[in-house]
Amino acid sequence: MSASLATVSYIGATILFILSLGGLSNQESSRRGNLFGMIGMAIAVLATVLGPKVGSSGYAWIIGSMVVGGAIGLYLAKTVQMTQMPELVAFMHSMVGLAAMLVGYATFIDPASSFHLIDGKNIPLTHAEEAIHKIEIYIGVLIGAVTLSGSVIAFGKLSGRIGGNPMLLPGRHWMNLAGLLVVIYFGGVFLNSHNIGEAMTPVIVMTAIALLFGIHMVMAIGGADMPVVVSMLNSYSGWAAAATGFMLSNDLLIVIGALVGSSGAILSYIMCNAMNRSFISVIAGGFGTASAAPKPAGGAAQPAGEVVPVNATEAAELLREAKSVIIVPGYGMAVAQAQHTVFEITKVLRDKGVNVRFGIHPVAGRMPGHMNVLLAEAKVPYDIVFEMDELNDDFPATDVAIVIGANDIVNPAAQDDPTSPIAGMPVLEVWKAKTSIVMKRSMASGYAGVDNPLFYKENNRMLFGDAKKMLDEVLTVLRS
Ligand code: NDP
Repeated sequence: MSASLATVSYIGATILFILSLGGLSNQESSRRGNLFGMIGMAIAVLATVLGPKVGSSGYAWIIGSMVVGGAIGLYLAKTVQMTQMPELVAFMHSMVGLAAMLVGYATFIDPASSFHLIDGKNIPLTHAEEAIHKIEIYIGVLIGAVTLSGSVIAFGKLSGRIGGNPMLLPGRHWMNLAGLLVVIYFGGVFLNSHNIGEAMTPVIVMTAIALLFGIHMVMAIGGADMPVVVSMLNSYSGWAAAATGFMLSNDLLIVIGALVGSSGAILSYIMCNAMNRSFISVIAGGFGTASAAPKPAGGAAQPAGEVVPVNATEAAELLREAKSVIIVPGYGMAVAQAQHTVFEITKVLRDKGVNVRFGIHPVAGRMPGHMNVLLAEAKVPYDIVFEMDELNDDFPATDVAIVIGANDIVNPAAQDDPTSPIAGMPVLEVWKAKTSIVMKRSMASGYAGVDNPLFYKENNRMLFGDAKKMLDEVLTVLRS
């Protein structure tokens, strides 16, 4: 493929990626958005492999690694459970980080990277070009290493292999600052080095510090802040890809990396808003566990009152008498795979003239958009799915609010108890409905590990059991 055809293909792929991002911003167009992304990626891969920079001697390597990588990807995509998606995403971010790091090292030790290939001749880089090239490598490896180790820890936390409590080392901010200064110092040493041997030590020291920083940063972040961490690592993986693009002089990779990096940054901002947190305080860590902010005994929202359990028949009766119902899904719906039964119940109620709507919290589940994906899979119409802000004022006029496997996102302590670890996080105000029904298996707390006073409210009923099983029973009663 000629260089100009490769460039045209890259421009086409870039346009498709922008259209893809635009499509993903809305549920109705997201399928099309995905399709644009897939076509764009196919064009990008073909134009790169068949382009002028890859000689035919490299095809065997490329095809071999594509077959291995593709087989692993296919296997993972086929076997992964919906509840494991957030972990898979974190794992993929770590792979982007690893790739950026390895490309950095490979470019650094490749003697050819100190030359331009012009008209078949190797022209050495000028002094300024060499300095820029070294900075690209240094920053690329740095971002890659932070993304790699931070994502591995996020993977551990999301999969429950590592506890959600923040690890708060004494003087941790000073440690981070000291690490940053050492990285800057060794950056200077690297820039002034004259050969690979001299430059190796600073790069290795910087890589070690960056890996430790990634681990330390995510370990210090408490359970409740994980949504921001997931989107922040998404953004880092984009910048790592952009850095790789600079190292390989690949314009498309720079553009795509910047698109992913900036959209991840915007998502982090949205997540911070959704949790009423500032980005800096998230990075500073230590938020989101009961141990991080011990509650004084008898605090405002200490759970008090009685828990009123109901069975499926009683829950179905409440629904039968309702004129308006709001369904609030959470992580437990994903665990139970109850979305299809939820939609069956929705259809039965709507056929009876009940106004049924869904309320989606921005951090419900374990990844951005988790609930929307599940509801779309069950074919719930988009026009009855609302975001928290669109619907929160409607609870007082609602007969029944059903909470399906959600906990933190409906916790009134976020509003009532300033000492609560999730104080200030906006929540769905289900307790303002005439009756709320919470479906979960036990009195256990949610991801943030915080007690929920909702369960003890007078107008609240608890339907204990696996969400799918209980909803099946409710559906049977409603149909009878
Ligand atoms: P929560 O984790 O707060 O609560 C989920 C509840 O579901 C649990 O209390 C559990 O109770 C119940 N549950 C689990 N399995 C089942 C089942 N089979 N049937 C019925 N119930 C079940 O989830 P929310 O969606 O309310 O809140 C999301 C939390 O996750 C927030 O704290 C958020 O910060 C965090 N988070 C969000 C991310 C995102 O990007 N969206 C990323 C990472 C973390 P029980 O065991 O008693 O059944």
